[in-house]
Amino acid sequence: MEKILEPAREIDVIHSTDVLVVGSGPGGLSAALAAARAGVSVTLVERFGCFGGNITVVGVEGMHWYRHEATVESEGIAREFEEAAKSAGAAVPESQSLSYEIDSEGFKLVADQMVQQAGIHAMLHRSFVAPIMDGDSIQGIITESKAGREAIMAKYVIDATGDADVAHRAGAPCVKPPKEDLMAASVMFHVAGVDKPRFIDGVKADPQTYADWGGGGEWNIETTGKEDEMFSPFLHKPFAQAIKAGMIPPHLNTIAGTWGAAHDTGELTYMNLIHMAQCDGTDPDDLTKYEIEGRRQAMLAIEALRAYTPGCENIRLRNFGMSLGIRDTRKVTTNYVMTEHDVRHQGRFDDSIGIFPEFIDGYGVLILPTTGRYFEIPYRNLLPGKVKNLLVSGRATGGEKIAHAATRNMACCAVIGQGAGVAAAVAVKSKVALDAVDMTRVHAELERQGSRVH
Ligand SMILES: Cc1cc2nc3c(=O)[nH]c(=O)nc-3n(C[C@H](O)[C@H](O)[C@H](O)COP(=O)(O)OP(=O)(O)OC[C@H]3O[C@@H](n4cnc5c(N)ncnc54)[C@H](O)[C@@H]3O)c2cc1C
Repeated sequence: MEKILEPAREIDVIHSTDVLVVGSGPGGLSAALAAARAGVSVTLVERFGCFGGNITVVGVEGMHWYRHEATVESEGIAREFEEAAKSAGAAVPESQSLSYEIDSEGFKLVADQMVQQAGIHAMLHRSFVAPIMDGDSIQGIITESKAGREAIMAKYVIDATGDADVAHRAGAPCVKPPKEDLMAASVMFHVAGVDKPRFIDGVKADPQTYADWGGGGEWNIETTGKEDEMFSPFLHKPFAQAIKAGMIPPHLNTIAGTWGAAHDTGELTYMNLIHMAQCDGTDPDDLTKYEIEGRRQAMLAIEALRAYTPGCENIRLRNFGMSLGIRDTRKVTTNYVMTEHDVRHQGRFDDSIGIFPEFIDGYGVLILPTTGRYFEIPYRNLLPGKVKNLLVSGRATGGEKIAHAATRNMACCAVIGQGAGVAAAVAVKSKVALDAVDMTRVHAELERQGSRVH
């Protein structure tokens, strides 16, 4: 490949902060809120025009769809997102659980208010492009925006980009599985024009269960057996019929999945029906290809729903997510890498920063936390190898496949984020390195913030 030399240049340092969080998804927003509430100055940098990450950007509205009567969870900021959305009228009951589906548009406002109330310095529309390093210590970041390149300095940085952009460029060891092993990418969409009573009658007349998830793509799953007879808002039959009728080509038997909520206003939201394998979310050529392909498939799905799903005869596309949804890319090789055993067998750690129920969803496994079982996440899971002054939050924390299928869930990312934010704040206040924070102080602050650590 031909190469050119990018000339070095002088850039302005536009801002300095105690804790700098890059990325504002469940893992970043919670980190920024937790650090600010712990009393240090916090800056939140986000490449798009809203906070919320996959919730607002992709339209992933089911943050707590795992919750059943016996489920034990961390509370804290993960729960607060749902409660704040409910109070703002930006949540509706979720169809398969004791939880509320968060409205992806309404949550933009909810997040704005949370950020403002916590006194976080917000910097939207700036993309992280490079770390500012002193040896193996990160000192800040360089962003690119309409204003060109700018520098932001920080005592500690939290990488919540989902793709470990900061850690990777700072030289922390990361693992990115080969394309064939990555979870599928999805274009999410919402539709309008649903006759809700007819749609719900149709669902009741032919209720689907998790056992029905078999049959192609993402949806061939292993459960513990206890999930099999439970109701699932699963849609597969209309697409099988459409394939039979020649409306959808047979190789697209990957079109299937779940709807989130049917609204009185005639919308079906969080349509998680498109699953495309072999998309590397860190490769813009793949992102281009799968955005276009995903939109094409979504329109085929809508056509099939119109033809074969009662109540959907007159639906139209309301909107796609602002971006293709990526589930799986780089994971940082953190000081502790979560194992399958940890998430399947109630891992316990002295340096726990939070708990998450035994909820595994991905790589062909679905376990719902219908029991009180849960695992803990150790602080070491947030500390990247080699790079100092940096923590990782959200789905890029180190984890084996099945561990990632648990920790990638948004509520778990928010638990990790709250732990990251509090630990960074404690490090600032006690003037120690991130790997030397006093866990007693971290636990005390997390508990003060209403989060459960053991
Ligand atoms: C289609 C789909 C369906 C899913 N369904 C569910 C579900 O039902 N329930 C569930 O719990 N989880 C679900 N997930 C998983 C979940 O959404 C993610 O694992 C989770 O959102 C990860 O949180 P995060 O904060 O690590 O990253 P994200 O939510 O991806 O947030 C990262 C943020 O960082 C920003 N960013 C990235 N790079 C840069 C940069 N260079 N500079 C500045 N900002 C940057 C992004 O714009 C984004 O706002 C789903 C995921 C997908 C894709």
